Formats: sequence, structure tokens, C-alpha cells
Amino acid sequence: MRQLPVLVVHGGAWAIPDDMVETHILGVQKALAKGWHVLESGGAALDAVESAIVCMEDDETFDAGRGSFLTRDGRVQLDALMMDGATLRAGGVGCVERIRNPILAARLVLEKSPHVYFVGEGAERFAQEKGMQLCRNEELVIEREIKRLKEAQEKEAAGQPDLTFAGPLSSHDTVGCVALDANGNIAAGTSTGGTLNKDPGRVGDSSLIGCGCYADNLSAASSCTGWGEPIMKLVLAKWAADKVRTGGAPDAVVQEAMQYLQKRLNGHGGMILLDQRGRFGISHNTPRMAWAYRNTEREKAGINC
Ligand code: ASP
Repeated sequence: MRQLPVLVVHGGAWAIPDDMVETHILGVQKALAKGWHVLESGGAALDAVESAIVCMEDDETFDAGRGSFLTRDGRVQLDALMMDGATLRAGGVGCVERIRNPILAARLVLEKSPHVYFVGEGAERFAQEKGMQLCRNEELVIEREIKRLKEAQEKEAAGQPDLTFAGPLSSHDTVGCVALDANGNIAAGTSTGGTLNKDPGRVGDSSLIGCGCYADNLSAASSCTGWGEPIMKLVLAKWAADKVRTGGAPDAVVQEAMQYLQKRLNGHGGMILLDQRGRFGISHNTPRMAWAYRNTEREKAGINC
């Protein structure tokens, strides 16, 4: 069955300040163009997801790859997951510190390992054995984030309430993508530096199957952003995919998912959701979310929906 391709990307959901709107929109548009190029040349959904996410990992606007939030001890620790809806193959890495593009390491796990998830040094060793060049952690750290961490820790020391991850206004710049290719296959990917001032070793929802990312041709492909702990507890990406499998329309289901997150655990974030028929939805319960989509009829990007 030939299918008309669809691509949806996001670059985080929070109160993106006015002076950061332009970089967020440009960032998701650039990623969309990369992924779309793959799809319109007949490429696979997985390749489109990879290409779009690498583009956002390389963009310091986002909390993924270089320029990510720092851990409590000033290091970058990255998580990423990729999933293929046709075969349910999945690959994830968590807490990697020496990988510039963790989504590429996730792809290696998906393609070249019987396992699904690697963490820390073992993940780095696996990626290196499969030909990836490792970097130094310092290469991933930027001045803006050193300053941000210092400010967060000063507030904490002054006993001010820690809204770092618990408030819908706080920064969530995780990136994600879902794609449908001409062969009718869907795929999803999510990549993140996690939350600001996180404890070393903390893993959020983004790279956990069914939590911040999921794809199954029989249901839907989904990628989340936001406060990871509530999203994990609700296994939200799979929750949404299952709703589509039982007849829900993706544009209604994403909204339901955000309401559920809010009502059940007072969580906040955003989600993109796409099914095999090319129906998709984008929703967030934060003031803004950076998103972009393209199909054969339309191309659009925004920070509100
Ligand atoms: N969900 C991510 C995490 O908790 C953070 C984010 O989306 O910005 O690690």
C-alpha cells in the first residue's frame, strides 16, 4: 500500500519566552526540512526521524545533545530512544555523557543489538564498538547552561521553591519526531538532556519505551516532552497509542492525554501523535510548545495549538 508521507516534530513544551520563540520555530522548521527530505525521496520513517532529531540535537536551542541542561554536578547526561512501528524494534540509551548525538547511538542499539536499552559507560562502549566516535563531556557543555545551573542552585540554597521541573513555566526543550513513510510504516524518536539540576543517574520519560516515546503500526507513533516523572508513571505515550488502536482519533487523543496528565498527577508537557493513516495530533498543557508538521498538502510550524 502506497501512503502519503507525514512528518511531525516538536522542540519542547513550556513557557517559551518571547525572545526565544524565533530560535525554537527556526529549529523545528530546519528539523522538519531534514526529515521531509528523507520521506519525499522515498526514505523510511526511521531515517526521517533520525535525520530530524540529529538536526535538533545539533541545535543548542534545545535540551538535547550539546547545550543540554546540566546535572547537579555540572555534567551533560543524555537519554534517547527510537522505535520502529513496523517491527517494534527499539533502541534506547540513558545517561550517556560522551555521545554528541544520542539518537544515533539509539539507532545503533535498534539495528545492531539483540538488547533494547543501554546505559552509561556500557552504552558508550557499545556505540564506540559499532564505529561511533566518542567526545569529551566538556564539549557538550555551554556557557548558557553553566549560568543556568548556577542560578538554579543559588535559588535552591536560598530556600526558594524548586520549580525546576515541577512547574509548567519551567524549561522543557526535549526534542521528538514521528513519521509515516510511503510504505505505510510509522516510527518515533525522542532525545533529551533531561531536567535542569537533575541528580546524576536520573533517567526521565523520554528514552523509556511507552513513556516518552512509542511506535506500533497497529496503533500510533508518539513522542512526549515535559515533566518526566508524571509522564513515566502514566506510561503516557503507550496510553495514547492504545487509545488510537481502540478507535480514538489522534487529534482528540493527544488532548485527552494532556488532560489525563494534568488531572491525574498535576503533570505538564506536550505530545505529538501520528497513526498509519496519516492522522495526527499535537497538544500541550503548557503555555507554549514548539512544533512543526508537513504532509503533501501543508507545512506549518508554531508555538501554540
Ligand atoms: N521529559 C524530559 C525529562 O523529564 C524533559 C523535557 O521534556 O524537557 O527528562
